[in-house]
Amino acid sequence: MKKSAKAIVHSHDHQHCVEDALAAAEKLCAAKDLRFTPLRRRVLEFVWSSHKPVGAYALLDQLRDEALGSAPPTVYRALDFLIENGLIHRIERMNAFVGCSHPGEAHRGFFLICADCGNAEELEAEEIAQAITAGAAERGFIAREMTLEVTGVCADCRKS
Ligand SMILES: [Zn+2]
Ligand SMILES: [Zn+2]
Ligand SMILES: [Zn+2]
Repeated sequence: MKKSAKAIVHSHDHQHCVEDALAAAEKLCAAKDLRFTPLRRRVLEFVWSSHKPVGAYALLDQLRDEALGSAPPTVYRALDFLIENGLIHRIERMNAFVGCSHPGEAHRGFFLICADCGNAEELEAEEIAQAITAGAAERGFIAREMTLEVTGVCADCRKS
């Protein structure tokens, strides 16, 4: 099993996260022969503006003010593209989106969401997915997609 992604430290150089995310997206699109359009890029960048999930409406508002001709359906299509290609995740309970911290690798959207700072951290826990799949199978149910959104207080907020 892979080691877990590093915890989000509040005072980190977030510009690195953004640059890494954009570089990873460019690489992934080039490898899969997909178009990383200016809008897709801008949406990804905006979702990555922090580690807090970005609400769909905030995103639409922001992009409406920019000169990308971004009507809501276009923005939703860009979001779908980013989700399908594993570059961002949707946080269902918040109707919001957050950048994926290890794009290009197959994994579930399991999240630890801090109620204090609002950061959403990915939790790698393939054993949970396996337990759900097995439990569902016992009931004759084929599990396809699963999300897990755990709320609580993150390590940084506990320290302060
Ligand atoms: Zn960051
Ligand atoms: Zn992810
Ligand atoms: Zn926190």
